[in-house]
Amino acid sequence: MINYDVLIVGAGPVGTTFARHIAEKGYKVGLLEKKKNIGVPLQCAGLVGKQIKEVNLLPDELIINKVYGAHIHSPSGHLLTVAKNNPEAYVLDRVGYDKFLAQMAVDAGADLFLNHRVTDVDIKNGIVYSGNDRDEMHGKIIVGADGYNSLMARKVSESGVQKIVQAAQFLVDFDRDLFDTNYVHLHVKSAISPGFIWAIPISASSARIGLFGNLDYHTFKNILKDFLSQDKDCSGYAITKKYHGMIPVYDSKKKLVKDRTILLGDAASQVKPTTGGGLILGFKCAQIAADVTSRALDEDDTRILKDYESEYQNKFKKELIDQLRVQKIFKSLNDDDLDHMFVKLKELGADEIISEYGDMDDQSILVKELVKRGILFKILPKLLSRRIVNLRK
Ligand SMILES: Cc1cc2nc3c(=O)[nH]c(=O)nc-3n(C[C@H](O)[C@H](O)[C@H](O)COP(=O)(O)OP(=O)(O)OC[C@H]3O[C@@H](n4cnc5c(N)ncnc54)[C@H](O)[C@@H]3O)c2cc1C
Repeated sequence: MINYDVLIVGAGPVGTTFARHIAEKGYKVGLLEKKKNIGVPLQCAGLVGKQIKEVNLLPDELIINKVYGAHIHSPSGHLLTVAKNNPEAYVLDRVGYDKFLAQMAVDAGADLFLNHRVTDVDIKNGIVYSGNDRDEMHGKIIVGADGYNSLMARKVSESGVQKIVQAAQFLVDFDRDLFDTNYVHLHVKSAISPGFIWAIPISASSARIGLFGNLDYHTFKNILKDFLSQDKDCSGYAITKKYHGMIPVYDSKKKLVKDRTILLGDAASQVKPTTGGGLILGFKCAQIAADVTSRALDEDDTRILKDYESEYQNKFKKELIDQLRVQKIFKSLNDDDLDHMFVKLKELGADEIISEYGDMDDQSILVKELVKRGILFKILPKLLSRRIVNLRK
């Protein structure tokens, strides 16, 4: 049986980032991935906030677009435009990025085993079984980075059925230049709220157009097709690819550590509730997990792994719960409410405030600013305003 200091199940972006961190600290790392090819099929819009540059490596050649702002569309077509002077987000070649992160982990010394589906894990004794022959590997610490449908999460929390929402995305080519690539488009509608439709340009004439929410894939496809055929700006298009994926719902009570095992990334539901984005939060957690794991290995004491869960909760729980509340409020608004909100926000100059305080990865800053200036109280029904006030507590 091969022995490792750390065995990681799942070579998605978060698992490979963690693998690199821990291999760079000099530990023996094994990384098991069920797919033959890293990163495919694409299941991501590939939009990440500027913080990515602080939390992970990102070579320029994997950036397709720099995004400076967003056009946000209300159900009946009111428009809010928010913009920054510097790039606020990047559109990534996500397949290329996943492959790059895996290569960086290998370069740091991790052993990558492709085509190795983990079928069972003895989390008490650190034994991982893979493939039809139940090949065995031993790890002093086991990390579950195996995505939304995590086998490892079921081991850590027996009760734990992971709640998920569906996501669908089309790659759409247009017969003419349609987009200013500096801007993404977000369309809100009560039928899909608290999700939204995104159009993320990857060139002037093509975009990733998708949505996420609590509906089935068939309904999503119809919503996207209606969206494309009803919007007069979107005529003359061809759908060149269709993708379907799942996004875990953030669970503040989820258990992340048991025995010698920890969960990371989508397997840990480390996903922003408002946008479904998991990359930046996952990368931040990979760094915390690597630091705690190396301490546990140095001191030969797996009880230290509990520090990962408490550091994660201390750093992110409040922001994530705030985002859940914002999401709940959005869910309760109908199309008229949403339209009214857009009109009022524009009247009150909120687009400028959003441009200044909006942050893709820390939305509570903006909500607090809108509360402080009394803007939310002017636009939402009283009942909803009272709920927002709780965000400050
Ligand atoms: C349509 C869509 C759009 C999205 N858009 C964005 C976006 O724009 N920005 C953003 O930040 N996030 C986005 N996300 C979310 C983002 O893709 C995820 O949060 C991110 O991929 C999580 O990375 P991960 O490494 O935790 O998990 P994953 O990327 O899911 O990787 C898990 C890996 O584990 C492997 N695996 C699973 N089970 C086993 C097993 N038993 N044995 C071995 N290997 C196994 C899988 O094959 C996979 O490679 C989007 C998601 C979807 C579905």
